[in-house]
Amino acid sequence: MHRAETVVLKLRSPGRAKRAWLDQTAELFRQGTQLGLDAALSAKTSNRGKIHAATYASIRALGLPSDYCRMAVNQAVQLARSHFGLRKSKQQAGKPTAVRSQGIGLGTNAYQVVGTALRLSTGVRGDYIWLPLCVPQHWRDKLQYVKGDARLFKRGEDWFVMLPLKMPTAPTVRDGDGEPTVIGVDLGIVRLAAAKHPKGVFVVNGKPIRHEREHRASLRRRYQRHRRTDRVKAQRGKEQRWMTDLNHKVSRGLVDLAAQYPNPVLAFEKLDGIRDRVRGSKRFNRMVASWAFRQLADFVLYKAERAGVRVIFVDPRKTSRTCPRCGHATRANRTTQADFRCVGCGYRGNADVVASLNIAAAALDVLRHGPPDTARLGQPGQAAPAGERLDGVKVWASAHADSNLESSA
Ligand SMILES: [Zn+2]
Repeated sequence: MHRAETVVLKLRSPGRAKRAWLDQTAELFRQGTQLGLDAALSAKTSNRGKIHAATYASIRALGLPSDYCRMAVNQAVQLARSHFGLRKSKQQAGKPTAVRSQGIGLGTNAYQVVGTALRLSTGVRGDYIWLPLCVPQHWRDKLQYVKGDARLFKRGEDWFVMLPLKMPTAPTVRDGDGEPTVIGVDLGIVRLAAAKHPKGVFVVNGKPIRHEREHRASLRRRYQRHRRTDRVKAQRGKEQRWMTDLNHKVSRGLVDLAAQYPNPVLAFEKLDGIRDRVRGSKRFNRMVASWAFRQLADFVLYKAERAGVRVIFVDPRKTSRTCPRCGHATRANRTTQADFRCVGCGYRGNADVVASLNIAAAALDVLRHGPPDTARLGQPGQAAPAGERLDGVKVWASAHADSNLESSA
C-alpha cells in the first residue's frame, strides 16, 4: 500500500562546471525529444515502441547518455499524444510543434538520492555528477521513499528537481481491534498542547512561542518605523517557518506518544472551537493561533496516518468546564485559567488536563456511538464523565489522583 507524493527541491548552488553540464544535457535532451517528436509526426503515430525503434540510435548519437534516452523518447511520446489529441478535436491546429526545453527527464537508472544529494549518471560507469539539494528538515526522512522517474528543470538561474515519492501507508487500524487507547489533546495559548496519557502528561508550554512572537513583532515595528518593508516581509516569513518547524516537532511528539500504546487514537477539538479557547486574546493573536492550530492538525493527520494512529475531532462544547469525575458542567468549575474545581463534587485538577480528559471521553463516545447527530438521544452535547467508562475501554481517568497531574514531558 503506497501513497504517491511529489517534492520539488532546489539544487544547492551548483558550480560552474555542473551548471554547464546541466545546460548542455538539457539541450541534448531537448534535441532528442525533438527527434522523437519529428519521427512520431511524420509516421503519424504515438506508439512508444515504434518511436523508440525509429529514433533511439540517433538520439544516442547526439551524445545524450543512454540512461536519459528512454526519457527523451517518453517525452516525445507524450508530446505526440497531446498533439494528436489536439488535432482530433481541432482540425485547424497549427504546425507540428517545436520542442521547448523541458529540463532533463531522469529515468530511474539515471539518478539516485544519496543522503541529501542527487547523484546523476553521466553515461560513464562509476562516473557521477553529485548535486547537493536544499532539503527542509522535515523532508529529510521522506527522501528514502523516492522512487520512479524524476525531472530536473530550470527556473531563472536556479535548477530544481522534481522527485516522486512512494510513501508507505500504515495499515488502517479497525475499530474493535482490541481496546482503543484514547488520548485527548487540548490546544491553547498558555499551553500550546496538553495531553493526558497513561504514563503522564505531555505538555508543550506556550510561553516560548508568545515570547518569540513578541520579539519578532517588536523587530517588525522597528523595521516599519524605518520603512524597511523588505525586512518586515522577511521577518514574517521567518516567523512562519519557525512556527512550522515547531508544529512539525509537536505533531511528531504527539504521534510518537500515541503510537507507543495499543490501538491508539488521538482526539482533538474541532478547530472551530479554537475561537472559544483563545477568547480574550487580541484579534491578531487569535488569527495566528487558528492558523497555527490548523497547521498542527494537518501535520498530525499525515504523520498519524503513517504511524497507524487514528485521529478524531470532537465537538468542543464544554470540554473545558465539564467535571471528569461527576460530569457536572458549569462555567463556575473553571476558577482560573489554570485551575479546575468542580462545584458539584469538589474534584480539583489542572484545567488543561481536565480538558484533555474530556476530549478523550467525547472521542470515545464518537467511537462507540458515532457522531452525536446521527446517534443517541439524551445528553446532547454533554461530554460523558471520563471516570465512568464501560467494558474494558481505557480512558485516562487517573485525574482522580491530583498528585500525578503535572509530570510535564
Ligand atoms: Zn465533579
